[in-house]
Amino acid sequence: MCAHCGKHFVGTAANGNRYRYRYRYRYRYRYYTCYSRQRYGTNTCNAERLPADELDDAVLTALLICYERHDLIDQAIHDACGRAEATRGQQRAELDAVDAEITKTEQAVDRYLLAFETGDLPQAQCGDRIRTLGAKLAELRDRRTDLADSLEGLQPHAPSRDLLAELRARIKTTLDAGPNPGRKTVIEELVHKIHVVARDDIQPWFRLPPDSSDQKVRMHIDSVGPTGFEPVTSRV
Ligand SMILES: [Zn+2]
Repeated sequence: MCAHCGKHFVGTAANGNRYRYRYRYRYRYRYYTCYSRQRYGTNTCNAERLPADELDDAVLTALLICYERHDLIDQAIHDACGRAEATRGQQRAELDAVDAEITKTEQAVDRYLLAFETGDLPQAQCGDRIRTLGAKLAELRDRRTDLADSLEGLQPHAPSRDLLAELRARIKTTLDAGPNPGRKTVIEELVHKIHVVARDDIQPWFRLPPDSSDQKVRMHIDSVGPTGFEPVTSRV
């Protein structure tokens, strides 16, 4: 993401000539270019073009370092737990409100039924009101289920050391293989966003790897969403 205009960077390529002895080679050079600049020109945004292969390299290297830093990961988990706790607080309050509304609505239904039994309310009128209240109750109960599910699933969980080691091995393999399409997959999977201030100030945010050994935990981490580490600045 471009720090100047907030737009994403897009992959672009340019043809170049390279000379070796007396031969001329045509080659394609890949860049990442800010969308505004690419589309509307440098007057709109003059963020520098970034060499794609070098940036991919630097980001993967930073990721590798980050996954070795168990202290950073523990800190990120701690922060995520804090945010999850705040969300849980709000959700618990909403759950209480929904429960109160359900009780109130159920009591209203009982009152209409009683009024109908004692002959105080005509059947048609009673039926209408009970249908309206019934629809409201169904909605409230759905919301209650969603809240309860969400409350149960909001505990961020640290990835195991084994998983981190496994991921580091995968990142290293990808790095050693040089520029190739597999890099994009790894980057998309593990990098949340890359904040580009300038060519020498690029801040990648990494995702916490999901713990694949435990399906339930993986769901939990997905629901919390990506967790930013302390940004690791890498020079390109
Ligand atoms: Zn821009």
